[in-house]
Amino acid sequence: MTVIGGGIAGLCAAIAARRGGAVVRLLEAAPRPLRGGNARHGRNFRLTHETPLDYVPDRYTAEELRAELRSVTGDDTDRALTELLIERAHSIAGWLIDHGVHLQPPGTGVMPYSRRTAFPLGGGKAMINALYASAERLGIAINYDSEVRSILRSEGGGWTINVRSAGADDPIRTRSVVVCAGGAGADPAWLRANFGSTAEGWMVRGTPYADGRLLDLLIGAGGCAIGDPTTCHVVPVDARGPQFDGGIVTRITSIPLGLVVDRSGARIDVAGAGSQPTHYAKWGPRIADCPGQLAYLLLDTRGLARAAPSALAPITAPSLGELAATLAIDPAALLQNIDDFNAAPANAARTIAVPPFFAYPMRPGLTFVHYGIKVDATMRVVQADGRRHDDLFAAGMIMAANVLRRGYLAGLGITLSAVFGQIAGEEAARHVRG
Ligand SMILES: Cc1cc2nc3c(=O)[nH]c(=O)nc-3n(C[C@H](O)[C@H](O)[C@H](O)COP(=O)(O)OP(=O)(O)OC[C@H]3O[C@@H](n4cnc5c(N)ncnc54)[C@H](O)[C@@H]3O)c2cc1C
Repeated sequence: MTVIGGGIAGLCAAIAARRGGAVVRLLEAAPRPLRGGNARHGRNFRLTHETPLDYVPDRYTAEELRAELRSVTGDDTDRALTELLIERAHSIAGWLIDHGVHLQPPGTGVMPYSRRTAFPLGGGKAMINALYASAERLGIAINYDSEVRSILRSEGGGWTINVRSAGADDPIRTRSVVVCAGGAGADPAWLRANFGSTAEGWMVRGTPYADGRLLDLLIGAGGCAIGDPTTCHVVPVDARGPQFDGGIVTRITSIPLGLVVDRSGARIDVAGAGSQPTHYAKWGPRIADCPGQLAYLLLDTRGLARAAPSALAPITAPSLGELAATLAIDPAALLQNIDDFNAAPANAARTIAVPPFFAYPMRPGLTFVHYGIKVDATMRVVQADGRRHDDLFAAGMIMAANVLRRGYLAGLGITLSAVFGQIAGEEAARHVRG
């Protein structure tokens, strides 16, 4: 059998299928150094536990996860899949540990306290490397630089996968396919088609290889689309970062410590954004609405001193007038708006008053789109007419919209992709073993 995509979902699918007795090939579009999809950027993943464990304090129950999921999705979710996710959120950490992943003890390093999530030691990249090592040990064949261009039903059963590798097309026959190619979104043309011309000012925080081609192929072949291709999770990122794959380090985290203006110098606010970790998700869409999809976070010396270190140093100037000139903002408008802000700041420390002054240019950074392919509880792809192939599966972000059609819970993406990847692998192995 063949797994398409070597992110966390594909790795979990491949390992589970191999352990289930299948002969497995994993096709990954990226070169080896960029393998692993977006979990490379991940910090933590959600898990339930009744007691403190070596890697997570306190307790976080299935009931709590169910309630939090409900607060995000309401009734607009696939209940059977949601229950599967909740059930396996209990065992996912143990499964990852069994396959070589090390988790950080709570309260160590620079990670925040969290009873809902565990942090892989060494970050997402170390977790991915451990899973690849496990896959190799189990005898899974791994092909890098192998981009799947089409999947066609073979005469006599199974599938023919057309793979582009080293500039040549290579057909592969296989009895069963698990598609774990990530969500849509890393394709600028796709983003423009669904979000309009404003998407031209966006950056994509994750891998450029999850470009939605496989999702389009599945839908084009009669698969049932699910979710909304015009809703997504966007957060403010440093506009000077890379267009793709900036990960978490280009995220701008210190908005509550300063003032945000657009490129005309006008103040921008987001009602209710506050300083909770969820404020990013509120600021992303707001910046997407700004002219040129560009905004600036302004800080004074005290604000910067309280801010977390950033990947790219802020733009700095000794006076606000010089900062305005550097940012090409009308100085009169900027100074007036800063005066107004300083006259009624949220608290004294947030005035922009003590030089030197700093600015971070910000753009919307796309994390994922709430759109994908419909699957059943065995991860088999559901066709628009309700039928399903018994040998075609999908797992991970490509089907996340079955559970999550809006919003986000921190750490859910990795858990969801790992859990549904595992299930897809188990089911595919069961199918090929007959
Ligand atoms: C910056 C960032 C930070 C994040 N942080 C967290 C976090 O801390 N915690 C959390 O839970 N979630 C986080 N997420 C979300 C999480 O990373 C994803 O939900 C999860 O990694 C998705 O895994 P996946 O395997 O389904 O898809 P992906 O990670 O997108 O992997 C898809 C894989 O398929 C390959 N592929 C695509 N097309 C083809 C093709 N045609 N042929 C062959 N291969 C193909 C790609 O190269 C890629 O390796 C973050 C996401 C981003 C972008």
